[in-house]
Amino acid sequence: MKRILIIEDERPLAEAVGFSLEKEGYEVEIALDGEAGWEMYERGPYDLVLLDLMLPGVDGMEICRRIRQGRATPVIMLTAKDSDVDKILGLEMGADDYVTKPFNMRELLARIRAVLRRTDRAPAERSEGRLEVGGIVLDEERHEVVVDGEVVVMPLMEYRLLELFMRYPGKALAREYLLNKAWEGDFYGQTKTLDVHIRRLREKIEKDPANPTRIVTVRGVGYRFEPGGQSR
Ligand code: CA
Repeated sequence: MKRILIIEDERPLAEAVGFSLEKEGYEVEIALDGEAGWEMYERGPYDLVLLDLMLPGVDGMEICRRIRQGRATPVIMLTAKDSDVDKILGLEMGADDYVTKPFNMRELLARIRAVLRRTDRAPAERSEGRLEVGGIVLDEERHEVVVDGEVVVMPLMEYRLLELFMRYPGKALAREYLLNKAWEGDFYGQTKTLDVHIRRLREKIEKDPANPTRIVTVRGVGYRFEPGGQSR
């Protein structure tokens, strides 16, 4: 299920959009100001961000810039009629698309689908239960991991963590997110265990596990999988 973050200070609008997106089968989270939105974004990952340009506090332009500095999460800006579109789509902000307020839901949905289609073909190459990113192949059917042509035995938790990383290459994944997904919500008392599993995973896929270049630590957040990192 695709996760969408809506950052919009007009509550009725945010909720109406959220409701429509949920009806379309998206998982939606809403932030009503810039600070809250940025905090939620950092705890992500999200597959797409709907971002209002005019926000109290940290505005949409600043948030878009920050998003662009990190993960490759697509951004659709919600703008006023007289907004500077060149700036929004140009290098300065680099949003993927925009819609002008007031917009109709059908138009917004079409834009969201189009942007997601474009980004779906992104780094992780998928074919029938096979995930391949930067020299690592995860064969979901055989439950097998191949690192640089060599089969590596991987216990369940390490396998699940690696799968999460490979689904979101280049994106910082929050500790809470990893715990929640890998342990399927049953992670009470597991926070320290996460680091142990990450260490073991690094020993299997890193050239120098003490100086990891594939699974890097993102301070205050969690970990990020670098598809360009060196393997063993
Ligand atoms: Ca606004």
